[in-house]
Amino acid sequence: MTFLQILTFLFFTLLVLKTLAELYLNLRNEKHVLSHFSKVPEDFKSNITLEEHQKAANYTVTKSKFSRLTMILGLVTFLIWLPLGFLDRLDFWARSIYDSEISRGLLVFGIFFLVNLIIGIPQKLYSTFVIEEKFGFNKITPKLFFVDMIKQLFLSALIGLPFLYILLKIVEQLGDLWWVYAWAFMIGFQFLMILIYPTFIAPLFNKFSPLEDSELKTTIENLLKKTGFESNGLFVMDASKRSSHGNAYFTGFGKTKRIVFFDTILKNLTSNEVEAVLAHELGHFKHKHIFKMLAMSVLSSFIAFFIIGYCYQSLDFFNAHFITQKSSYMALLLFMLVSPLYTFFLTPIFSIMSRKHEYEADAFAAEHSNSNDLITALVNLYKENASTLTPDPLFSKVYHSHPPALERIKHLKTLS
Ligand SMILES: [Zn+2]
Repeated sequence: MTFLQILTFLFFTLLVLKTLAELYLNLRNEKHVLSHFSKVPEDFKSNITLEEHQKAANYTVTKSKFSRLTMILGLVTFLIWLPLGFLDRLDFWARSIYDSEISRGLLVFGIFFLVNLIIGIPQKLYSTFVIEEKFGFNKITPKLFFVDMIKQLFLSALIGLPFLYILLKIVEQLGDLWWVYAWAFMIGFQFLMILIYPTFIAPLFNKFSPLEDSELKTTIENLLKKTGFESNGLFVMDASKRSSHGNAYFTGFGKTKRIVFFDTILKNLTSNEVEAVLAHELGHFKHKHIFKMLAMSVLSSFIAFFIIGYCYQSLDFFNAHFITQKSSYMALLLFMLVSPLYTFFLTPIFSIMSRKHEYEADAFAAEHSNSNDLITALVNLYKENASTLTPDPLFSKVYHSHPPALERIKHLKTLS
């Protein structure tokens, strides 16, 4: 067997295994949720009605069926782009138009993203205006949906094209070690995005107003003081104009840190519950989870660029993924397209790590606020978001970044 044959064999084997694993887990989860349809789990009986429990089950099953469909559509488009040779044909066409590798790169990337964007529109429409609508979560109007899409398209072009231009320039000009410079550029770009996102990009889509509720404000300021946390303001975001799902998050670095609450979370939780949720988020900060995740992503992108740099030199890498000729832009595009295939089986490792962080943040919240408030906040959020309390254990182990409701609350009870 030649190296090319081994690579091609590996490609198809992983593609089949990944598809089967995803379908199997998806079906398992659906079956498990349905088998617990008729009864609210014992621990939640006093807080969640049978009707609410069944709504969560129906919502989960509906989304699960839909994700099976999108999975299959995704597989079909993937097969069309690569094994059926459409990406290669696009490359041939671009080569007939431009001599410059950078111009070809911008053209191929641009068309590839535009086509995928268009293919994705019906899926997004269905999930927003049919599924979310049916379960009462959708708040977005068709007009806002359309405006959002146009804004996203312009932003992607405005940010993406210059980014890609510089990246391709680096590959062209900086010799064999281009991948090191490309990696450094990418990291710098990511940090810049983290810095400008809260002040320049997020306000294009949402309104951020200072938190006004004075009782809640005092509670939160006390918590911040108690835990020695500095922030550059508390904001409420008008998430309810798109969806009634709730959340709270941090953005920014150092002194520019902002705490943002979705207006939807403030509507559904008491101020003690909001305090407990925030204490959990502060726990992530104090345990340096955000820093660790960032460090991990810096390291893994270094490894990724090293691999791209290596693959770039081998024609076999291109040929094994159904591309006839070598080029810098194709190396980047192919890597983006096929790396999920080669890293899929690492998913559970990241989920395990993330769940460990959740337990640590919960312990921090229990110490600095009240674990019972966090429990009732979580139950409320499960209820309001119609999240299932009974996911399949294996499905949950592979995919979920948060521990299942039952285990999480059990853990919190040991802390009170
Ligand atoms: Zn968390």
